[in-house]
Amino acid sequence: MHPTGRIGIMAAMPEELQALLDVMPDETMVRRAGREFWVGHLHGRDVVAVLSRIGKVAAATTSTVLLTEFGVDQLLFTGVAGGLGDGVRVGDVVVADALMQHDMDASPLFPRFELPGLGLDALSPPGALTQQVRETVERVLSEVHLEALGLGQARVHQGLIISGDQFIHCAQACAGLRQALPQALAVEMEGAAVAQVCHDFQVPYAVVRTISDRADDDAHIDFPRFVSTVACHYSVAIIEALLRQMRP
Ligand code: SAH
Repeated sequence: MHPTGRIGIMAAMPEELQALLDVMPDETMVRRAGREFWVGHLHGRDVVAVLSRIGKVAAATTSTVLLTEFGVDQLLFTGVAGGLGDGVRVGDVVVADALMQHDMDASPLFPRFELPGLGLDALSPPGALTQQVRETVERVLSEVHLEALGLGQARVHQGLIISGDQFIHCAQACAGLRQALPQALAVEMEGAAVAQVCHDFQVPYAVVRTISDRADDDAHIDFPRFVSTVACHYSVAIIEALLRQMRP
C-alpha cells in the first residue's frame, strides 16, 4: 500500500491521455508490456496514467499491470462510448453502476452473458465511489456548454455499460443489443474487462464514458470529430475535479 493511496487512470484515447499528461507536473515514463505508464502526481495525488488500448484483452492486460506492478489502490477509467439507452445523447456522460460483456456467451454450458467461474453476468463497482464520481461529473457538466457544437446541455446517466470486442456502428447491431440488454445505457470495448480484473483483485474502480455516437450508421462519422473537440476536455476536467476532491 502507498501511504496516500495510488490512483491508476486509464484513458481510452491518445488525445485523452495527452490532455492528462499536460496537467501532470512531474511524470516519468515506465515501459511495461509494450505500454507506456506515466508515473507522477496530479493535484497532490500519486497517480499512474496509461492508455488502456482498445478491446477487452488489451484493457485487461493494462489493468493487471497497473494493479500488480504499479500497486494502484484504485482505478479510474475514462473514455467514449456509443449511446444505447433512450435519451442517452451525444455529449452526455454515463457513469457505470454495472458492467457486462455483451459478447460473452458460453451457452449452453452457462447462461448467456454469465462469466464462467464467477456465476455473475454483471459486475458492479463500489457504490460509494460510483456516487462520488457521479456527483463530480454532475458538477463538471453544469459548467460545460456545448451549444457551439450543436449539442444541448449534457446530462449525466448512471447505469449499465456493456462492453464487447466490436465497434458498434450500424442500426441493426445497435437494435440487437438494445433488445438483448434493454437496460444498457452505453456500449464500448473495455469497461467490463477492467471491471473483471478489479473484481478479481478486489480493488475499487469507476468507469465514466462520454457519449461520442449513437452506435448507429453515423457512428464512424461522429466519432473522430467528437473525440478531439469534446471528449478529451471532459475527461481531464472530470479526473481533475475527482482528484481534487479525493484528498487523502
Ligand atoms: N476509429 C477509432 C476507433 C476507436 S474504437 C480510432 O481512430 O482509433 C472505439 C473506441 O471508443 C473504443 O475504445 C470503444 O470503447 C469506444 N467506443 C465509442 N463508440 C463506440 C461504439 N459505438 N461501439 C463500441 N465502442 C465504442
